[in-house]
Amino acid sequence: MRRNDLWDLNEALQHPGKKVAVDIVTELAEEADIDLLKPIEGYLEAVSTGNLLLLTGEFKTKCVVECARCGGPLEIELDFKMEEQFPVEGVPSIYSHDDYARVVAEEDYPLFDDNNLIVEALIRQGLLTETPLQPLCQFGWDGPCPEAAKRLAAKALKEQSHPLGKLSELLQPEEDAE
Ligand SMILES: [Zn+2]
Repeated sequence: MRRNDLWDLNEALQHPGKKVAVDIVTELAEEADIDLLKPIEGYLEAVSTGNLLLLTGEFKTKCVVECARCGGPLEIELDFKMEEQFPVEGVPSIYSHDDYARVVAEEDYPLFDDNNLIVEALIRQGLLTETPLQPLCQFGWDGPCPEAAKRLAAKALKEQSHPLGKLSELLQPEEDAE
């Protein structure tokens, strides 16, 4: 099955210096790790220098992540720019009768299918780079966080209501002394 998020870049690749652009709205349907609240919107521009394909773009979206301290849900606005370049081989078809320019294939994480950019794969990469690794809710690391306190209380309650929980801790074999 052909993907429906392919962007044919031959217009740029076979005409170095010519800029092409596309508006993009995507929900990254195949992305399970990122909880988007609204589609990612933005644009991509591409131009070839002859031996490099330059891609730039700008996107914004809103997603939900977990606070690194309390695990509470956090809505964050993401606004990110992308700047990528890909090596090109071959002679653009406007200069040649029997050759054409091709994006050099990458092996580990392909972003291209021949001269078609796999748009969602590129945006996914950009989004993952932009998502903060340790997002924090408004209480930060130090402030008294009601969400963190609630979780602690719930945990304490759970331990109380399972008296055997404590017992099993006592019964656990001691670690071997060396
Ligand atoms: Zn928090």
